[in-house]
Amino acid sequence: MQRESALERRIFLKSTAASIAAAAASPLFSSNADAALPTPIVELPRADYPRMAWTVDDGCSHDSVKRYIEFVKANDLRLTFFVYSSMGPWTSNMKILRPLVESGQIQLANHSTHHPDLTTLSSEDVQKELMNCHIFMKKNYGVDARPYYRPPYGAINNRVIKAAAELGYTSPVLWSGSFGDAGNVGGPKFMKLANNSMGNKKIVLGHANNLVAYNHYDSLLNILNDRGLTTVTISDAFGV
Ligand SMILES: [Zn+2]
Repeated sequence: MQRESALERRIFLKSTAASIAAAAASPLFSSNADAALPTPIVELPRADYPRMAWTVDDGCSHDSVKRYIEFVKANDLRLTFFVYSSMGPWTSNMKILRPLVESGQIQLANHSTHHPDLTTLSSEDVQKELMNCHIFMKKNYGVDARPYYRPPYGAINNRVIKAAAELGYTSPVLWSGSFGDAGNVGGPKFMKLANNSMGNKKIVLGHANNLVAYNHYDSLLNILNDRGLTTVTISDAFGV
């Protein structure tokens, strides 16, 4: 762990320098940087069975994060958390979450440290937001979350994509369906959005900020079963 921390520190120092030379030196980044900018992922590649990626952002509520973890475990689901790392629930739920992260049943990906609109920041500050979250996940869960990140609010532009790619965050992940539950939302609206969102190849966006989803877990499971959908993590689907 000590050696890993030193490595992350080196990556961080190198990244905050944000030099073209540093970018060119990265094996994940072509020297023809602008031409090679990645495009955001919004859905899964086709597979020979129906599948969707259930992704859950933020983590502002301890109970919401906890119940998602228990739900995934109890129902043999696979899920990706996009971690907003300065939120306490990522520390307070560590003990029950860590084994699922280690087995790969739950994937952790980067959703920044303080949840800013990255398009309003300098490239250096974009990199700090991603790297401090990266270091948190590495230190506490032992995982390197690269290459996947989700920009808060889905706000992204070429400058953000380039700054992130210089760190090895080469795969921005957006979504193709949403539960609309970043804040509290009424049950009927939530279920309407869920019905419209859950389907083959979809990347579905939920939030661990309140208990709206928890109150509808049974209905969400019914949709998965009725539609024959298997849940996969982003890494499952893209093989990285
Ligand atoms: Zn968010």
